[in-house]
Amino acid sequence: AQLDTLDIIVLAALLVGTIAYFTKGTYWAVYGDPYGNSLATSNGAAKAGKSRNILEKLDESDKNCVVFYGSQTGTAEDYASRIAKEGHSRFGLNTMVADLEDYDFDNLDQFPDDKLAVFVLATYGEGEPTDNAVEFYEFINSDDISFSEGASAEDKPLANLKYVAFGLGNNTYEHYNSMVRNVDKALTKLGGTRLGAAGEGDDGAGTMEEDFLAWKEPMWTAVAETLGLEEREAVYEPVFSITEKPELDAEADEVYLGEPNKNHLEGSQKGPFNANNPFIAPITESTELFTVKDRNCLHMDISIAGSNLSYTTGDHIAIWPNNPGKEVDRFLSILGLASKRNTVVAVKGLDPTAKVPFPSPTTYDAIARFHMEICAPVSRQLVSAIAQFAPNDDVKAEMAKLGSDKDYFHAKVTERNLNLAQLFDILTKGEPWTQIPFSLMIEGLLKLQPRYYSISSSSLVQKDKISITAVVESISKPGAPHILKGVTTNYLLALKQKQHGDPDPDPHGLNYAITGPRNKYDGVHVPVHVRHSNFKLPSDPSKPIVMVGPGTGVAPFRGFVQERAAQAKAGQKVGKTILFFGCRRKQEDYIYAEEWEQYKNDLGDSFEMHTAFSRDGPDKVYVQHLIEKHADDVNKLLDQKAYFYVCGDAANMAHDVNNLLGKLIASHRNVSAEKGKEIVKAMKASNQYQEDVW
Ligand code: FAD
Repeated sequence: AQLDTLDIIVLAALLVGTIAYFTKGTYWAVYGDPYGNSLATSNGAAKAGKSRNILEKLDESDKNCVVFYGSQTGTAEDYASRIAKEGHSRFGLNTMVADLEDYDFDNLDQFPDDKLAVFVLATYGEGEPTDNAVEFYEFINSDDISFSEGASAEDKPLANLKYVAFGLGNNTYEHYNSMVRNVDKALTKLGGTRLGAAGEGDDGAGTMEEDFLAWKEPMWTAVAETLGLEEREAVYEPVFSITEKPELDAEADEVYLGEPNKNHLEGSQKGPFNANNPFIAPITESTELFTVKDRNCLHMDISIAGSNLSYTTGDHIAIWPNNPGKEVDRFLSILGLASKRNTVVAVKGLDPTAKVPFPSPTTYDAIARFHMEICAPVSRQLVSAIAQFAPNDDVKAEMAKLGSDKDYFHAKVTERNLNLAQLFDILTKGEPWTQIPFSLMIEGLLKLQPRYYSISSSSLVQKDKISITAVVESISKPGAPHILKGVTTNYLLALKQKQHGDPDPDPHGLNYAITGPRNKYDGVHVPVHVRHSNFKLPSDPSKPIVMVGPGTGVAPFRGFVQERAAQAKAGQKVGKTILFFGCRRKQEDYIYAEEWEQYKNDLGDSFEMHTAFSRDGPDKVYVQHLIEKHADDVNKLLDQKAYFYVCGDAANMAHDVNNLLGKLIASHRNVSAEKGKEIVKAMKASNQYQEDVW
């Protein structure tokens, strides 16, 4: 038989993969981090040759309180800034915010007893530290920890350390808030003294903000008491200076119009591409996967050829969005900045420790469009802080009420999915809010975050082309004045429409600047970087696997099955490959229906797909029901050490499947329910059970 080009590519990839497997990646080490996003490259302090000594830094900048953050998506960083600001404005603490990865911790035993360290720590995935907290976490938990003065754990080396701790977690994960819990335990064990309770915010219950607000008051009381601080009338003090530069034209070469860094500004994007430096990638193909008109699910192929980026099946790709023009206009108008949108501004930290979250000089337009989460839910604390700058006394009173009454705020703002500009607009009926210092907007709004997508292709089959599978977010709620449009997915939808020369490329009037700053993303391009994940196929393809992925949860499994089909075609022995998939209707949102048929041809009996269509029959059938129906097979495969994978909705499905598996094991192996749960736990610990949930 003749080999076609794809076969040859796949065979070559298999050979390379086999060498990589047997050499355990030794040869790759020569080329550095295969994912192009190693921690070392993003290590700001080290790279800039700055000191990694936090005690020196505190002394130099005359600070007595450092707020460290371990943050993945920017939320923990935002809470850290808020604590730092409040500590200063209410209690006169001289605070600074610090990225955990910018400092060393072996001199924490010298931390002066009249200073305060605050740790704001997000827990990531399966109880892991965020990327920037890995080194700190390993240090503080190491069995043979030793400090610069030679003190060991038994000496209670942190007896001088006074600290405060707040964690950001999600109760739908098993290791809920494990970062803050473990760090707190470690610090206490080493002799540190915690002030106040260790706070725990719960994203799973949607109460992060309220948990934070409830935790911080008693914490401040404890801090004030211990450090002998007096509360003062909080006056707003800006963190950033914003200087308008009318002499500079927005088109001038040195003005950032949304470019993420200097290389991009100078028009020569250079690797390594990572979380600080996106690659402007061509979208080579985009298609609609649903057949209904009112919902969209996008399949996109993104080329990383020539970028030196690489991925392995199961990794994530980050898409760097920009905000829709419609919301940028609303935001600038309501702040009275519409006529100044292209005015050049230089933004600087008023304190040497304050980091400006985007490059400067830039314009108001670029800040709102490319750098701030202007569409995000509004925080109650921000509403409180802004109240004093409302345009009149009635609105001031209403803002103060919203800021202080949790239930009222929930009903009026959160429940109605309002963003900040929409709230302002409603409160003043369009009258602009011209008294708000722009610094407060930069401080109060999150930095615009890349969104992650589970890569839905196999790196073996298409090493330079990353596929994604994304549902376009569009939420209308009764009583809400606007339809909530997901920032990134609607941006991707607009790009798809452009690619297809759609006569009506902007059905919702969102008006994205899809050609990017200075048209640098013209054609059909999107800024991306790749993130490594632990969600991985067994290295031996003959091992059986069971996958549970309803809806877009099937994304990584398209990659898994694509890979195993290629391996089977190349003559490798491939083990049982079972996929449980669910969606609403076979004719509407059964994504990749034809591809699955193709994979069945390639894999033969080793591939089984079980589908649940919740709205096609009289009874609602979900993947959980399918698993129950095929419980015997699942149990048998688990006995043969099958890998078990779950992807998709963290809040309900993943949780249910986890519990169901425990029960299934208990009943099939005749052990107690408790033992069933333990077995599932052990499977997770040994990576036999893997989750990719969001
Ligand atoms: P956003 O604008 O970020 O909005 C997202 C949600 O936030 C809204 O639905 C709403 O609930 C809330 N929200 C936003 N604004 C407001 C407001 N003003 N008021 C109240 N609530 C608000 N998605 C996929 O489709 N496919 C995948 O394969 C995939 N893989 C993922 C893998 C990982 C590891 C992670 C973390 C996430 C993954 N996601 C995936 C989800 C994806 O990252 C995005 O969260 C999703 O596409 C929505 O992004 P968006 O920018 O369009 O929406």
